[in-house]
Amino acid sequence: MIEKEDINAIVKDYTKDKISIGTLGSHSALNIFKGAKEEGFRTVCICRKKDEIVYRRFSSADEVILIEDFSDLLDEEIQERLRRLNVILIPHGSFNAYLSMDKILNELYLPMFGNRKLLSWEIDREKQRIWLRRAGLTIPKIFEDSDQIDRLVIAKFPGARGGKGYFLVNSPESFKAKTEKMIRNGHLKREDLKRTYFQEYVIGVNAYIQYFQSTLQDEVEMLGIDKRYESAVDGIGRIPASEQLQIDLNPTYTIVGNIPITLRESLLPEIFKMGDNVVRVSKEIAPPGIIGPFCLENVITDKLDIFTFEISARIVAGSNVGIGTSPYAYLKYGERMYMGRRIAREIRLGIEKNKLEKIVY
Ligand code: AMP
Repeated sequence: MIEKEDINAIVKDYTKDKISIGTLGSHSALNIFKGAKEEGFRTVCICRKKDEIVYRRFSSADEVILIEDFSDLLDEEIQERLRRLNVILIPHGSFNAYLSMDKILNELYLPMFGNRKLLSWEIDREKQRIWLRRAGLTIPKIFEDSDQIDRLVIAKFPGARGGKGYFLVNSPESFKAKTEKMIRNGHLKREDLKRTYFQEYVIGVNAYIQYFQSTLQDEVEMLGIDKRYESAVDGIGRIPASEQLQIDLNPTYTIVGNIPITLRESLLPEIFKMGDNVVRVSKEIAPPGIIGPFCLENVITDKLDIFTFEISARIVAGSNVGIGTSPYAYLKYGERMYMGRRIAREIRLGIEKNKLEKIVY
């Protein structure tokens, strides 16, 4: 297990006016790099050959380190190169998706912005539920077993990512019928059945709230809101109902992009309270709690009840809709503030105030 002292020792050796910001070339890297550059940092993109074009065309990276696979980030040689470049890593969704949590916690000897212990709370649905409950948030009902299903439920398999592989069922029978078909088609393994997570499907609209916990300024900021653009569910409304019935459509939720939104102002007091409570509880479950970006993923019903079905304890790709600015970042900071830049600003502040140790773990 990497101890905080190990990270402090690495940071202590860094040349403070030569710190660079690095991340894996994927997910929200464009956002992170642009923000870093606007705050005067050098940027280091660790990326696969096939993705390099993106960071070259947008001139995002001062340094590109090519790797075969994201897990090569753990190679001692690559890590040493990054340490020599005085890199602070910014974790994003591809870290959890492509590196094992175990390795992030035990083998990644590089300072990361944020609290890496919380990433392990994020990948465990049961731990998420405990965290959100303790924060007093309303969460969808969970069904332990398919026999208990008595309403519309979204079934999530272990390892299902980015909404891919979710499906709806409304009874034990419909679960059995659908999963048998999926097993026959090779879309599902029988051993995964036992580990299915059933969540009440809340009918309403999505709102993904992008927060930033500023450890150095001691405030939970709200910098943007988005909803997801998902295939095929967002395309189903374009097909007449009669055809939908004929082809026995099954909505899937594979994320393809994001769409910015603003919320009714009357919902915002609750939104701020939710963010504050989640941060308060994070300090109890994994001291010193959240540092930097996090996101609450909600469905808001026609009664304006807010159900939170997930939390991400890091930058989310939805914050890419705010590159440049978002209405809420504008309200707080004026022009040209967005999640990638807000991260870099906090690191800049940490360097200036000699408090980097408070924000990298
Ligand atoms: P996720 O990958 O968990 O962020 O969710 C992917 C998609 O599933 C999103 O469109 C969500 O709105 C939808 N979703 C997930 N859980 C629920 C739920 N409990 N009720 C309604 N929609 C959900």
